[in-house]
Amino acid sequence: MHVINPATEAIIATLQEDTASSLQEKFQRLKKAQKSWAQQPVQERTSILKKFSSLLTENIEHLASVLTSEVGKPLQQSRNEIKGAITRIGWLTDNGEKYLSHEWMTQEEGLGEQIAYEPLGVICNISAWNYPYLVGVNVFIPALLAGNGVLYKPSEYAALTGLEIEKLLKSAGVPDEVFQVAIGAAPVGEVLLDMPFDGYFFTGSYRTGKYIYERVAPKMVPCQLELGGKDPLYVADDVEDIKSVAAGTADGAFYNNGQSCCAVERIYVHESIYDRYVEEFVKEVKSYKVGVPTEEGVYVGPLTRKDQVKVLENQIKDAVGKGASLLTGGKPMQKNGFYFEPTVLTNVNHQMQVMQEESFGPIIGIMKVKDDQEALHLMEDTSYGLTAAVYSKSMERAENILSRLNTGTAYWNCCDRVSAALPWSGRKNSGFGSTLSYTGIRAFVRPKAYHLRGLKK
Ligand code: NAD
Repeated sequence: MHVINPATEAIIATLQEDTASSLQEKFQRLKKAQKSWAQQPVQERTSILKKFSSLLTENIEHLASVLTSEVGKPLQQSRNEIKGAITRIGWLTDNGEKYLSHEWMTQEEGLGEQIAYEPLGVICNISAWNYPYLVGVNVFIPALLAGNGVLYKPSEYAALTGLEIEKLLKSAGVPDEVFQVAIGAAPVGEVLLDMPFDGYFFTGSYRTGKYIYERVAPKMVPCQLELGGKDPLYVADDVEDIKSVAAGTADGAFYNNGQSCCAVERIYVHESIYDRYVEEFVKEVKSYKVGVPTEEGVYVGPLTRKDQVKVLENQIKDAVGKGASLLTGGKPMQKNGFYFEPTVLTNVNHQMQVMQEESFGPIIGIMKVKDDQEALHLMEDTSYGLTAAVYSKSMERAENILSRLNTGTAYWNCCDRVSAALPWSGRKNSGFGSTLSYTGIRAFVRPKAYHLRGLKK
């Protein structure tokens, strides 16, 4: 399997893909070793994973450059991602013991009732490329903390990072047999779906997620899906600093080249501030430095996948053909690498793909609305349900909209943000189940109810 640098289109590595028999071997090793891993005290697993976090810190420059070389994100954003992963590991390892320990529900003379949290067993994690550290850590850290064995399949676009993660987990003390990496693309993923894992944890597109859910359903094991979004953002007329709101919301749309599951994908603006907002927004987008991701100060690098260039071109063609105005950008850049101009469209509507289908690139549609009611109506017109944001001086006004939306995350005066303390979960076509927070730790265990007669107090 060739690894391509999206900034240059050069082959930077060639890896041996896994085969059905190498995957079987890895699975057998995991099966054999998982039970003794689970029998170690949770404190030991915690300290190993804390060591992993220290190794990320020590090696951050090397890891960031590997990440940038295969996904094309600006070097500073690669560093930010690894730092974000370290913060998440901090929260998960500080709180793991609390949420994984047995819980007494009843302790009376003669009767004890207790919940024990047992690991699922050997789980399969099929992952995405856009934030390989963050989406990886969301799954394999709590899974390992809880005593599971993990077969981790990084995306084929982030395979080198997957191998770096494996190396550091093992240097930190995770036993060789407890964490295994599968290298390859969809065909390797397909083989994993046929194997008897005790749980499937998927991060990726709606299309693949739905397929995986259908394929693993007969196994009757947990299957959790973290999928895409078409996340809306509304700017109400009472925001005080339009310039900074425009800059902050543009960042929410264009950070990581718009390739974030929770990137702002649609913007609605109250008509009374619309013109000023759009002017500031476009000014901000035009100020972005686009270029080679290893160059200092670059904010927009190449797209990770060549195919996405066509998707964006089609969305823009569709929108302009239906009456949208192109305020900046609009086409691929004429140079080596998968570069696309940061693009802003106005006069958009919900008949256009750009307001309905996940763009996953540096392109945004901005639409004028007459009031909160119209904003709410348009925000909820989507098959996805990941996040939604409202910018307003009034929390009550924002909550009034956010509480009515069927999304897993709601943002007031912020966007494109994830916290380890809060559950990360999608609704509708954005998936189900949750990572992070205590719900995301408990996702990797099954409760066992102990009824204990004869307990002495
Ligand atoms: P993708 O669905 O193309 O691939 C995801 C993973 O599935 C990869 O490892 C891929 O090799 C594997 N795969 C593909 N076909 C398969 C098959 N038939 N059987 C088994 N495995 C298969 O998604 P992607 O392009 O890697 O990621 C981008 C998508 O992920 C976007 O839609 C984004 O919004 C979403 N995402 C969601 C979250 C979240 O937390 N909700 C986080 C990051 C990314």
